[in-house]
Amino acid sequence: MTDRVLTRWLRQGVRYGVCPLCRASHKLDREYVWGFFDKWSMHETAVEEFARAGGFCAEHAEQYRRIEVDAMRSTIGICDVYLPTLERLCEDLPMLADDGRLNRARCPACLYRESGVANNTRYLLIELVEDSDFRDQLAGSSGLCLPHFQLAWGSSETVEQREQLRAVQVAATSRLLCELREHARKQRAEASGEPPGVEADSWQRALWLTAGWPAPARSASLPEGENPYGTRTVNAAPNAPATGQHT
Ligand SMILES: [Zn+2]
Ligand SMILES: [Zn+2]
Repeated sequence: MTDRVLTRWLRQGVRYGVCPLCRASHKLDREYVWGFFDKWSMHETAVEEFARAGGFCAEHAEQYRRIEVDAMRSTIGICDVYLPTLERLCEDLPMLADDGRLNRARCPACLYRESGVANNTRYLLIELVEDSDFRDQLAGSSGLCLPHFQLAWGSSETVEQREQLRAVQVAATSRLLCELREHARKQRAEASGEPPGVEADSWQRALWLTAGWPAPARSASLPEGENPYGTRTVNAAPNAPATGQHT
């Protein structure tokens, strides 16, 4: 079984009714962007890497903006890292050949997330086979979003891992299908007046199951508190580690 510290984000995802790899992905983003703000933006090598990438992608630029501007009420940190980035662009652009391409490294936060999600996918596949409680909780929770299911399926190395992964995903998807059918039935005129039940937000979960869960809307610099997604918490684990500010 994998160390519970390594699998804490996966277990949080299951508990919050969120794809556990989406949860890991959101936490990795938070960890990187906060680390960049707090430390790495002052390291020459990290700033060079940032400039080589031409700055963050749109998604991570917005997360960084939220910390610097919304939370810290300052733009000086943005100046410190985007000045060398724009200077580099101003050197490279005049050299661009008619049939050439502007060489840009990939967004460093995207690279950090990809590597962390790959590690978490490996932990998830181990836990699916070795920890029946985790497997049952995931099957009774929301399962994996489709993009992360595809990733886990492609990363699985044994027949047993694929069997467990498929079983969990079938259970979670079938239950959501039943709830969405019930939701659709209640929308029809003949069923009007029936009070909504657990199926009421199944339309929302259908969007998330197929596309991935969105990150919590709060600034990356603020403490998250318990279940920042506002989803129905399921399978509360009494010994689950507490959520830290930046972990
Ligand atoms: Zn996901
Ligand atoms: Zn990015």
